[in-house]
Amino acid sequence: MNSDARHHELHLAPYAATVARSRGRHHAEPAPTYRSEYQRDRDRIIHSGAFRRLEYKTQVFVNHEGDMFRTRLTHSVEVAQIGRTIARTLRLNEDLTEAIALAHDLGHTPFGHAGQDALNHCMKEFGGFEHNLQSLRVVDKLEERYAEFSGLNLSFETREGILKHCALSKAIELGDIGERFLNKQQPGLEAQLANVADEIAYNNHDVDDGLRAGLISLEQLREIQLFHDQYEAVKRAYPDLPQRRTIHEVIRRMINIQVTDLVESSRQRLSAAAPSDIDAVRAGPAPLIGFSDDMREQNLELKRFLRKHLYQHYRVRRMSAKAQRVIRALFEVFMEDGLLLPPEYALHSARLRDKHGEAGHARACADYIAGMTDRYAIAEYERVLNPAHLT
Ligand code: MG
Repeated sequence: MNSDARHHELHLAPYAATVARSRGRHHAEPAPTYRSEYQRDRDRIIHSGAFRRLEYKTQVFVNHEGDMFRTRLTHSVEVAQIGRTIARTLRLNEDLTEAIALAHDLGHTPFGHAGQDALNHCMKEFGGFEHNLQSLRVVDKLEERYAEFSGLNLSFETREGILKHCALSKAIELGDIGERFLNKQQPGLEAQLANVADEIAYNNHDVDDGLRAGLISLEQLREIQLFHDQYEAVKRAYPDLPQRRTIHEVIRRMINIQVTDLVESSRQRLSAAAPSDIDAVRAGPAPLIGFSDDMREQNLELKRFLRKHLYQHYRVRRMSAKAQRVIRALFEVFMEDGLLLPPEYALHSARLRDKHGEAGHARACADYIAGMTDRYAIAEYERVLNPAHLT
């Protein structure tokens, strides 16, 4: 480790992840000259093709619905900045938190959860499709950027953070990274933090996007305590503020109280459990980074509201239904004839088919489709399925 990185780690809490105690990379590499290993992970993620494609992948609203809505890219940046603030405050490893946050959605299909559900359905006889596992597959296998190895060869701790959930049957296949699901262990604190920062980011920006799209209303939101309390406070302090500014002021206050609650509750849990190092964190019975009971309840209320009124809104459902049809049709057509795939994926399919037969071919089709952006998927659907389209 270089001296800058070593110096930085001296300021971290004893239970933070450190390069000095890292479980390392699959392929040993010389230490970076100026960066820490986790900064190098972050940089590899930012330079990856999958990261750039997040710009044109849906969070809730399909990419072409408007330029103001969050995409997976801006969502990931929001998760990273919320996560970094909290990491620094709790003296956790900020670089690692940032790397995990920026990578956490790399495996998402086009069209958000509708795309994931459709692809999972298509893959049901071939091992299923899960975006978390796919994020790991992207950084471990699918990115082809380095002479010495496939994937990005990230540190264990970054990969541990990317794999948030995992079915036990899959965990067995995953080796080192799957072990904690089999042993019922926790991930490091930076991984726990990136997970909650993800929730804080999407709950709040979905409120903002939902209001802008006119799918949910202020009247509805005022039934929700988290929104209601901040809304009343802003209205009292600034009764004449225009509505757009009122909404932004309410949302920034909502983020602030959630972050504050998270910092304070996590601090209390950390001081009560006093884990001596990251291995003690991993061996603990439950995550240590989390909200107070009251804030968790308020968060659940907001989540339930968004599920009912935003994610199930008929206009969102219409778009989801169309998206699912696009994914299913593409999968079907490529499954039937692998030679319709572009050459690099036809080759990928041939390699996987050699090893795993039909399931290998299906996995290659899923890799191709999962990597698509929203607009690429729609264009490819036209090219492959519309007879009036010439190529
Ligand atoms: Mg996310």
